[in-house]
Formats: sequence, structure tokens, C-alpha cells
Amino acid sequence: MTINNYDESHIERKYFIDGHMYNCPFCNIRNVQYEISNSGRFSWSRERDCYFYLVKCSHCDHTSFHLSNYDLVRNYGHFENPPKQRKIIQGENQSFKILKNGVEVMELDEVFFYHQPTSFFTIDNRIPEIIRNLLSEAEGCRKMDYLVGASGCLRKAIYELLDLQEIGNEENDTKLPYEERIKRLKGKFPNIDSEYFDILAGIQGMTSDNLHEGSWDSFDSRTLALLIETTKEILYEIYVLPDEKKTKRNIIAKMREQFKQQKSTADTESKT
Ligand SMILES: [Zn+2]
Repeated sequence: MTINNYDESHIERKYFIDGHMYNCPFCNIRNVQYEISNSGRFSWSRERDCYFYLVKCSHCDHTSFHLSNYDLVRNYGHFENPPKQRKIIQGENQSFKILKNGVEVMELDEVFFYHQPTSFFTIDNRIPEIIRNLLSEAEGCRKMDYLVGASGCLRKAIYELLDLQEIGNEENDTKLPYEERIKRLKGKFPNIDSEYFDILAGIQGMTSDNLHEGSWDSFDSRTLALLIETTKEILYEIYVLPDEKKTKRNIIAKMREQFKQQKSTADTESKT
């Protein structure tokens, strides 16, 4: 009996899976071969160099665009994985590990700060598309240090979630204050760690009126990272986890059924 219950969702949430495979944003084929068709360096600013990579899907031939702060080591059209960077030392090309906070970066996705198309598919597609788009936009903006854009997209994503969950839509169409809406969302999902909702409820400057964006202050990068991760975790628990539990339950039920059948056949055979 073969039952495929290997959880591949961690692969699905990546852009680059390894040195040879990626999730194509055009044909939406997962785990397909890619090739770096072109790359180069340009000056992001007077002080900062930046590297671009054009990556072509082997299946549909479409090309995506990726930006990184690193001159990544490539072999025959593929990124080295785990990623390494090239530096010219005394006229010679040498490759080095990429470190973030003193720890070696092991994932290719970690060394890019921008993708076009964006990586919205890297957020589980069971989460409503409108929220996925806003969140990936928020993440992309944050990585590029566009904090106003990132803050705006994140706020919109949270408001979309509240609307989709029908939290705080009063009959006379007046909206409850933001904090109260988050509190109600928390009440609706008692199985989700309440701390996550408390983090969202604590966001300063989320007025009850989501139209007046101009009056909002933007978050700093660290706060944004925390809020984006928290929002993703809540979304995962609302939209993905129940579905996964259901799949697992079905697998177990199937296995149990087959086990019972085998047992009853064996019992009948032993009697005859
Ligand atoms: Zn493709």
C-alpha cells in the first residue's frame, strides 16, 4: 500500500527550491528546471552595487527577474546551493559563504530582495488570493526598504482578512474600532494562539477607518517583519491547517479501512 502523505508544503512556499529547480511563476508548475539566461551588475546608488539575474523556465520559456545584493556563484546556468558569493581578491575570483547575523545562509530565497513576478505563490494558495497578493507585496516592499508601501499593504491585508471573516460589519454599516475587530477574530478562532492576535491588536495607528491611509505612520522594518510573520501564521491556521488536518484524517481512515479488510480476509482464510 502506498500513500503519499509526505508534506511538501515547505517546498511549495519557495521561489528557488535548489540549484536546479524552482516554482515557475508563469506556468505555475512546481519544481521545474530553470536556467539563468542573463545576469549583471548595476549601481543601486553611489555606494551600493546590486546584481540582477534573469531566470528562464525550462517548461514555458518565460523569464523572471531577480535582484540580489550578492554576486552569486553560478555553475553552468545554475545558482550554487547553498548560495555563495563571488568576490575578487587580488585579481582572482573567489567564492565565499554568505552570512546573515553570523549564520551561513542556506536557502537561495534568502539572498534575493526582489522578484518580478513577485512570489505571491510562495504563500499557500489556500489563503484567499487578495490577501496573498497584499502580503507578498508587503514582503517585497519591506525587503526593498519601501516601508510606507509595505505598511500600507500589510494594513490592507489585515482589513481584507477581517472583512472576509465578516468581523465588525455592523448592520448599519458602521465599522467597529480596529482593536475590537481583532478581539472578535480572536474569539472566533479560540484554537489559535491568542498571543498572535494580541500582537496585531497592539498595532498603533490602525484606525477604524481603513480609507484614510494618508494619516498612517509606516512601521519600521523589524516591526513589519514581526507583523507579516504573525499575520501569515494566523492565515495559515485559519485557511491551511484545517484542510491539512482533513487530508490527514482521510489518509488515516483509508489506512484503517484497508487494515480492517486485510484482517477480515485473513480471518476468513484461517477459518476455511
Ligand atoms: Zn514556466
